[in-house]
Amino acid sequence: METALVVVFFAFLGASLGSFLNVVALRSISGKSWSGRERSVCASCGAVLEWRDLIPLFSWCLLHGKCRRCGVRYGVRYLIVEIIGALFGGLLAWRWGVSITLLFALTAAYGLFLNALTDFDDGYVFDIFPLAMGVAGILLRLPGGWGGILDGVIGAVLGFAIIACIILISGGGMGWGDATLAAGAGAIMGWKMLLLTLYSGFMAGGILALLLLVAGKVRRKDAIPLVPFLALGGFFTLLAGPRVLLFFGSAPGWPW
Ligand SMILES: [Zn+2]
Repeated sequence: METALVVVFFAFLGASLGSFLNVVALRSISGKSWSGRERSVCASCGAVLEWRDLIPLFSWCLLHGKCRRCGVRYGVRYLIVEIIGALFGGLLAWRWGVSITLLFALTAAYGLFLNALTDFDDGYVFDIFPLAMGVAGILLRLPGGWGGILDGVIGAVLGFAIIACIILISGGGMGWGDATLAAGAGAIMGWKMLLLTLYSGFMAGGILALLLLVAGKVRRKDAIPLVPFLALGGFFTLLAGPRVLLFFGSAPGWPW
């Protein structure tokens, strides 16, 4: 019972966070301030959204994704980001319980999610977000002592180095934003979990790219945003990573 309550609580919190990060991503892309006191308004009629319009999942479903005033459709994107946010929060809380490890997992997951949104929308990673992830990762690791901090630093350096090598060798396809993002994620996750994130992200992205190529939806030179796949790989790693690492004979302890 207690577990169920925790999962529901974090799912709801996660849905709100997903909704908020969606706004942050959209405002970053359009160059608007997201830190100010600017209220959320309907993009069509300009009506200020009330609290009852902003309850994650419920508002969208009750209003069928339409504006209460003018009836314009908001698009399914708002619902999808809330569902993904809820899944992240609920599943990670179920996996890790209320613990410091959950804090690591949530920071990594929502950091990746925010960057996945801007990359998906605009093909762009804003350096400030991976930088914030890196700082958060090192701060979270302070209680782990030098061993914990070192793990994060190695993760950050390794993440940056791997993507940088791919950029230099392939001469495109990935951008430096992908490299800074891998560094930010590595600082939170540590180097082993980061390697698994990159590996599973590349696998997922590669499989989808292949399917799209075969289906004729993309051409060889088309750029496919990488960060959404890294976020997918990261989420898989945050749920199953320690077990996978154990399978390969590595100590399963995480974050240290
Ligand atoms: Zn409206």
